[in-house]
Amino acid sequence: MPRDSRYDILFEPVDIGPVRAKNRFYQVPHCNGGGYRDPSAVAEMRRVKSEGGWGVIFTEQVELHHSSEITPFIELRLWDDDDVPMLANMADAIHEYDALAGIELAYSGINGPNFYTREVPMAATALPIRTFTNDPVSARAMTKRDIRDLRRWHRNACLRAKTAGYDIICLYGAHGFGVIQHFLSTLTNYRTDEYGGSLENRARLMHELIDECRDAVGNHCAIALRLSLDEMTGSLGFSNDDVRELVALHADLPDLWDLAHGSWEDCSGPSRFKEEAAQQELVAGIRELTRKPVVGVGRFTSPDVMVKQIRSGVLDLIGCARPSIADPFLPRKIDEGRVEDIRECIGCNICITGDMTMSVSRCTQNATFMEEWRRGWHPEKFAPRGDSQSVLVVGAGPAGMEAARVLGERGYDVVLAEAGGAIGGRVARERLLPGLSAWGRVADYREYQLSQMANVEIYLGSELSADQVLEFGFENVAIATGATWRRDGIARFHVTPIPVDEAMPVFTPDDLMSGNVPAGNVVLYDDDHYYMGGVLAELLVQKGAHVTLVTPSAYVSDWTNNTLEQGAIHRRLVELGVRIELNRAITVVGNGTVETACANTGTAGELAADAVVLVTAQKSDDALWRELSALEDRWPDAGIRSVRVIGDANAPAPIAWATYAGHRYARELDGPDIGDSLPFRREVVRPASYRT
Ligand code: ADP
Ligand code: SF4
Repeated sequence: MPRDSRYDILFEPVDIGPVRAKNRFYQVPHCNGGGYRDPSAVAEMRRVKSEGGWGVIFTEQVELHHSSEITPFIELRLWDDDDVPMLANMADAIHEYDALAGIELAYSGINGPNFYTREVPMAATALPIRTFTNDPVSARAMTKRDIRDLRRWHRNACLRAKTAGYDIICLYGAHGFGVIQHFLSTLTNYRTDEYGGSLENRARLMHELIDECRDAVGNHCAIALRLSLDEMTGSLGFSNDDVRELVALHADLPDLWDLAHGSWEDCSGPSRFKEEAAQQELVAGIRELTRKPVVGVGRFTSPDVMVKQIRSGVLDLIGCARPSIADPFLPRKIDEGRVEDIRECIGCNICITGDMTMSVSRCTQNATFMEEWRRGWHPEKFAPRGDSQSVLVVGAGPAGMEAARVLGERGYDVVLAEAGGAIGGRVARERLLPGLSAWGRVADYREYQLSQMANVEIYLGSELSADQVLEFGFENVAIATGATWRRDGIARFHVTPIPVDEAMPVFTPDDLMSGNVPAGNVVLYDDDHYYMGGVLAELLVQKGAHVTLVTPSAYVSDWTNNTLEQGAIHRRLVELGVRIELNRAITVVGNGTVETACANTGTAGELAADAVVLVTAQKSDDALWRELSALEDRWPDAGIRSVRVIGDANAPAPIAWATYAGHRYARELDGPDIGDSLPFRREVVRPASYRT
């Protein structure tokens, strides 16, 4: 299909200093949990994006000098020449399909605890280090000599970046993570010399560093500046007005202005709290203050919204991190007139948890993210089917849908049988909860893809028994029958059932999602700790209940610290009037009351309640799999070669785990038996010496 001419403007080239981007699709820097530990995985992930048509592709944050590093987080490093080859590999990968390679250099200052290098951190002003974990170390204030050193380190890093093949060098001054921001902000700069006080003074370091970088590599590389649009920290800080004044004063200083929201939490807001293009108001009008191109982000997945950003003069380049993760081929799909094939980001921020947990990032929508090199998974290419032909997938939740989609791509004859009347499984229910409508894209994308495949049939309203599966005689059977929330309180705090008086109505998340919502004084007990407890508290308030949320954790929805939304959830619940009891567990559910205990001291308490909602753990619905396993001796006669259980039916977890499980099953079907070998590649550090 030819490209829709409405989108032509997105494919216009843009000059950025001495280099030219082939189009307006600009993949802004994003973490991936792999960084220096998994350099080939990171390089291949970006090569795939190059193939997918992005005009500019950036590294994640790159530590430019060892005196400022952000352990335990795993990003990239450019501490000396030894780091150049790994970065050069990535630049080569990015260049493969003519994208410009961008590198984001960061000196973390007040944000770098230096746990690994043990150097004393340096910052604009002597203050405690500001990190997610309130690390108990402080930075000392930079002297003039330190600032001279910092300029030289920037020069050296730029020269190394140029050697590695980068086209755009971006200085990081956003999200609270870069020294330029720390100098600009009255929150972190209390200097009384020429680097503190007035905006002009606070911008001096920025000016000097950009000059230094330009002097070193400016004929060859573009110099970009990434700034926060608004720190949102009240009277102190760096406000949106300050940004506008700064851009007006230094309009043509960098070759590109890369504008991001205040903190990372603000900038990468999940769909539960932030719409697409949420930063428009903060960025609108800044482009008129400069002749240099402006890039901004906003979880852009719709080409129409992108076009509007350009046509209305808000942005020159469409910045994307998460949308490029969910669909590395987004630009190419627009270019090829395949807009309906775009796998849209759902804004769940699971990708960010890979960085926050220092593991390796995963994506709910794109199971191949960070597996491009590790497992050789390409998001758009699939090996043809192996030596069997037919697969029955039971259950059309995220695991079953993704398995059917990938099996369909591989050319298997697939039947997807679903007990319910709609496709989607848990997503069909959860998308109706407050703030989670965008999550429905998990089902919508797959439903459309499956509808286009002649070799996949979907049967709704088909609850299958083991006998039926045996009768059908498919060669392979994947059981993706999901999970159910427990009603007995077993999870983490309690590993045996909570005593319950039968007079007290007890509800589970499944009850509430089926429309069975209690009223009056409701105690919601959250020993799950991800989003469900907070979301259901919101639902209950919407339906008129008075809610007390009790959790043994010190935080509401504790695990959402990893999705950067914990603060927003807490705020939302307080605004809604939800009473929050932290560090407490429910011990007994009585008649009209709930007994609680402090999770730390055991001190007892009591709450009046008309109903209790237990958000504790999920239990796999694996009865069908267990029955079929027990009948294994009948498989050969039925023509069955394999039966596998996948997704929540195997072990409950967030949706991303289910799409991954479905994807993996479909990729590996009829594959070779690898025995005890590792099922993925990794890079092992070569010891400096070894007794050979
Ligand atoms: P997952 O997250 O692992 O994909 P879900 O709970 O989202 O799991 O989806 C499981 C789906 O399987 C649900 O839509 C459920 O209706 C369906 N299902 C459960 N048991 C059967 C069965 N015996 N036959 C057909 N479909 C089933
Ligand atoms: Fe988007 Fe979620 Fe994928 Fe991140 S994990 S890219 S937020 S769909």
